[in-house]
Amino acid sequence: MTAHPADAPVVTRFAPSPTGYLHIGGGRTALFNWLYARGRGGKFLLRIEDTDRERSTPEATAAILRGLTWLGLDWDGEPISQFARRDRHAEVAHQMLARGTAYKCFSTKEEIDAFRAEAEARGTYALFQSPWRDADPATHPDAPFAIRMKAPRDGETVIDDQVQGRVVIKNETLDDMIVLRSDATPTYMLAVVVDDHDMGVTHVIRGDDHLVNAARQQMIYDAMGWAIPVWAHIPLIHGPDGKKLSKRHGALGVEEYQAMGYPAAGMRNYLTRLGWAHGDAEFFTSEQAKQWFDLKGIGRAPARLDFKKLENLCGQHIAAGADAALLSELQAYLAASGQPALTNAQSALMLKGMSSLKDRAKTFPELLEKARYITVSRPISRDEAAEKSLDPVSRGILKSLTPQLRNASWTKDDLEAILTGAAAENGIGFGKLAAPLRAALAGRTVSPSVYDMMLVIGQDETIARLEDAAA
Ligand code: GLU
Repeated sequence: MTAHPADAPVVTRFAPSPTGYLHIGGGRTALFNWLYARGRGGKFLLRIEDTDRERSTPEATAAILRGLTWLGLDWDGEPISQFARRDRHAEVAHQMLARGTAYKCFSTKEEIDAFRAEAEARGTYALFQSPWRDADPATHPDAPFAIRMKAPRDGETVIDDQVQGRVVIKNETLDDMIVLRSDATPTYMLAVVVDDHDMGVTHVIRGDDHLVNAARQQMIYDAMGWAIPVWAHIPLIHGPDGKKLSKRHGALGVEEYQAMGYPAAGMRNYLTRLGWAHGDAEFFTSEQAKQWFDLKGIGRAPARLDFKKLENLCGQHIAAGADAALLSELQAYLAASGQPALTNAQSALMLKGMSSLKDRAKTFPELLEKARYITVSRPISRDEAAEKSLDPVSRGILKSLTPQLRNASWTKDDLEAILTGAAAENGIGFGKLAAPLRAALAGRTVSPSVYDMMLVIGQDETIARLEDAAA
């Protein structure tokens, strides 16, 4: 058993099977690999495990790449197709033959079934033991054969896992697995090892549903005399109730979170914390995560999805986001969710108002709701509460305001003086005046501050909306 030199440059990979969308668990696995590599100046590679020709589709590959791209997980080089490497996999199977760590097995399916049936009848282990394991090549028939790995029959295989600890698998529980089928197609187990070796992968970070595979894969590494990667098998994600994650817990696909309008930075922060901890840090940037991420911080218990926490972190990331970056992410959200794009004029106003819009919005739909005063056009439709606040008295006040607003210098101080003055003149508190103003400007009684809205949309538009509402 050999390992990569401790100072070898880090290479990680994400190896999805393209049979559907990018699952939230897959997204987290990719993220952990990305963080680990990026924090160490290493490489993060992508391999599409498309050997199952029946279940793999180009649409699924495209969906996975879209999901990774949205999450901001850039990979090095071109994605590698596992299927395209099948000749190389077969070549390695033959090298194993030449090294004597694999053998040709001529047993037919019927013979194997009969072996199992007999073993079961005797009540012994039903693992197939090929009669060809130690056969003299001179006795080989001219018939189709599979290549089987000559797995050690006794002793144990130890996976030194960075998350699970020392995992011991008794070799007698593993059979001589087939590495190359009789139709010359490689098995999945062989393909993964050959690819990881050829790609120079030093760290395999993946779901713990692959832990048993690691034992078999380690045998292949040993059979080829290749360096074994560092293993880190991470617990799967569970639902808020602690049960295995399923559709009834809510969204499972990464792209669904994009469509719900969560910011990618918040999603990365949340997924990083899902099963990994750095002291009690909750809110952090990806730059911090890259510096901090390590395998020691990965927990052994399955992490539970917590939508409240996700929303909370997303709100913090929106609030902390740079205005221009938020605007472009908002535009991407609109496109991804099939909504009309912002016009240039709206984008300009959005940027102007972003500092107040981004405050206390947990998702882009919430931010858009706050930005309603920017995206609406006259005449502004109003909800019931807004309509109600525009009673005759309020309309009268709005009307009386327009001459003063026409002469205002359009600074916050000036506007404040005018509006508080008007409230005092009419013997009402500012709060009473704010409701009809919000109704006039945004068509809602809940909106960003009246001053923010007036300053963003400007003098002419403000007066026009007030006149509309007063009419
Ligand atoms: N293709 C496997 C999966 O999607 C991952 C295999 C691996 O990471 O080694 O579960």
